[in-house]
Amino acid sequence: MIPYGRQTISEEDIEAVIKVLRSDWITQGPVVPRFEKAIAEYSGSEFAYCANSATSALHVACLALGVGPGDRVWTSPNTFAASANCALYCGASVDFVDIDSVSYNMSIEELYRKLELAEISNSLPKVVIPVHFAGQSCEMDEIAELSRRYGFRILEDASHAIGGKYRNSPIGDCRYSDIAVFSFHPVKVITTGEGGIALTNDPRLGRAMDLFRNHGITKQPDEMVPRPSEESWGYQQQLLGHNYRMTDLEAALGLSQLRRLDEFVNKRRAIAEIYDRSLGETEVVIPWQHPDADSSYHLYPVRLKSRRAGKSQAQLVATLRDAGIAASLHYIPVYLHPYYQSLGFSRGYCPVAEEYFRETISLPIFPSLSRADQQRVIETVTGFFA
Ligand SMILES: *Cc1c(COP(=O)(O)O)cnc(C)c1O
Repeated sequence: MIPYGRQTISEEDIEAVIKVLRSDWITQGPVVPRFEKAIAEYSGSEFAYCANSATSALHVACLALGVGPGDRVWTSPNTFAASANCALYCGASVDFVDIDSVSYNMSIEELYRKLELAEISNSLPKVVIPVHFAGQSCEMDEIAELSRRYGFRILEDASHAIGGKYRNSPIGDCRYSDIAVFSFHPVKVITTGEGGIALTNDPRLGRAMDLFRNHGITKQPDEMVPRPSEESWGYQQQLLGHNYRMTDLEAALGLSQLRRLDEFVNKRRAIAEIYDRSLGETEVVIPWQHPDADSSYHLYPVRLKSRRAGKSQAQLVATLRDAGIAASLHYIPVYLHPYYQSLGFSRGYCPVAEEYFRETISLPIFPSLSRADQQRVIETVTGFFA
């Protein structure tokens, strides 16, 4: 089966992990901070904090932003559940802003409309979590403008988007947001096995995330609550944090992968260009590209132009499967999951996201996808419509 995405591991990656295994520390050693520094430099943010997943990074980001019971967090329905779950972990409520029918990202018009209503009913969100779907940047300039007007904070779920750009600056530089998060899950652009990272330019948010990912424990003497002089304390727990630390084994893999990040993104772009050229004339809509942004091409979603042709998404998925190609669906609108239905969301809530979901599939895209395998995907898709 050709998967829709997979990791690209080199001998150097393997050597980097083995080197850590032979060293004194396999976790909480020197490699995690080196990886953090390298990601911060690459993405142009001041501070970076690794976690054992992007889900954990989103959780500590919400905690650092002070999200708690009674607060509201808004995100896109066209995402993995973790973008919404992070708010629920903090006891806040979550709501969804429908997507734009062209970019498949959170719609700015819809966000604006919803904010206007929320202002009247005194139910504005504390945090908005835009998701750079498929690696294509959201309209961050406009979201930042709305955040100044309505007073919410911005947490970018950039899980898909490391290596991407918006207005000539790297996604992750937090120019338009408080915090940005990348994922290093194996299907993402670079991997650490499991892993994620939270980036910020705000030292207080950074310090809070650092504490929340490590039990809420500090070892810094100047941060400790003073104790009687006869007591000797090596560390203090000051918040209820979690054990969300990344290991040095994972960070070594990430550091090694980071060297090839640009190469990976270029390969993904080249694959996307071939799809664009080969599928542009068939019955699918190829993914729109922002004129002032560069996608990381984490996903290549194609949308069936119309059901008029009498061809359904399910038939295309089945045809691809029969040809040994595992197309995938990104994403079932989060609020349609049974758990979210039990919270009171119902079908029809975000009609654009629902229609998009019914008509779209993700074709295989990853750096090691061979030209022959890609040709098989293209011929299967064009054959399906012929
Ligand atoms: C993959 C993903 C996550 C979660 O990443 P993990 O590292 O697997 O926890 C969160 N949000 C989005 C949009 C993702 O694609």
